[in-house]
Amino acid sequence: MSIEKLIRELVKKHGSPLMLISQETLKRQFGLFRRHLSNIEPYYAIKANPHPDIIKIFIKLGCGFDVASANEMKQVLSLGAKPEKIIFANTIKSAKDIEEAHKNNVNLMTFDNEAELYKIAKHAPGTEVLLRIKVPNVGSTVELSLKFGADPSQAIFLLGKAKSLRLYPKGVCFHVGSQCLNVENYIQALEISSMIFSEARKVGINLTMLDIGGGFPIRHFDRDEHVMLKQMAKHIRKKMKRLFPKETIFIAEPGRFFAGPAGTLVTQVVGRSYRNDRNYYYLNDGVYADFSGIIFDHCKYEYKTLRRGQRFLSALAGPTCDSLDTISLSEDLPELEVGNIVYVRNIGAYSCASAVPNFNGFPPAKILMV
Ligand SMILES: *Cc1c(COP(=O)(O)O)cnc(C)c1O
Repeated sequence: MSIEKLIRELVKKHGSPLMLISQETLKRQFGLFRRHLSNIEPYYAIKANPHPDIIKIFIKLGCGFDVASANEMKQVLSLGAKPEKIIFANTIKSAKDIEEAHKNNVNLMTFDNEAELYKIAKHAPGTEVLLRIKVPNVGSTVELSLKFGADPSQAIFLLGKAKSLRLYPKGVCFHVGSQCLNVENYIQALEISSMIFSEARKVGINLTMLDIGGGFPIRHFDRDEHVMLKQMAKHIRKKMKRLFPKETIFIAEPGRFFAGPAGTLVTQVVGRSYRNDRNYYYLNDGVYADFSGIIFDHCKYEYKTLRRGQRFLSALAGPTCDSLDTISLSEDLPELEVGNIVYVRNIGAYSCASAVPNFNGFPPAKILMV
């Protein structure tokens, strides 16, 4: 069935807004990752979209999970994930959350500072730790090395500290920034990591795991045909082979790449006006809910309608009483009437996950697995 026909039928049945999650696309993205990066075991970063049905699909596929809090951890465990397939990948964890992880046998964590090591040693003795390092995030849509990541010059000191606290310094991790279109970020991060691996070996610390984080980009616009994992993966694999011992265990934490392409958001026009020299369309979903990625994820989307015909300069706004709740000020759209559908593809990540429920009384989209 065409996407447009499916949308029409589902809106007739359920109303809107709707977040459609394609199970087939989730599986396809997982398959693509496995095919192009076959030496790397993926741990889905559930913050991108923690819907239980998505987690269940990835459990079935044998995927691991990246969690950032005890609540996320308990969610994946309660759905059937194995503790040994979970990495607690927030470098700053509360003592209580660390204890919770220890109790649940989640024994792999990341850190990037000395204070964290004391906490982990006290509340989760014997845990395996990965040192998160700061790496270039050049050209990534979302910066993830401003707040986290130790300076590489501190690496040996911190790994040694972990060892002296009787933790197991197991390796290094990094994040090149989300929606990373610049493969050079991965290449440089691999080079920095490999230097840390050799320096560590010299001081008697044998690192065996490298976690290359997330960042793998997706297409948001039809014109984004150049965005392809395949090319990027080739460079990454080649570099890994050259820089790291054969026995190294490689893992990654894709979030957007797994969940983004699977989501289609379907909204309807609830009102229209003409202001500031353009058509203004007010939709029944906005920046406070499923378009929250516009703010938090710095994301831009392609807005589609089921109408044809001449296009006019148009603005799209959400339903709440706040001017911040403006989705876009300049789209080229056919003339729309109240009740018409506006939909966005590739919006499965960092959308419903960060929606505020019911601000101003407007509910976020109903999530349907299709
Ligand atoms: C957000 C995050 C991810 C997922 O990043 P994507 O760019 O969505 O793949 C992975 N690891 C960590 C530590 C994160 O904070």
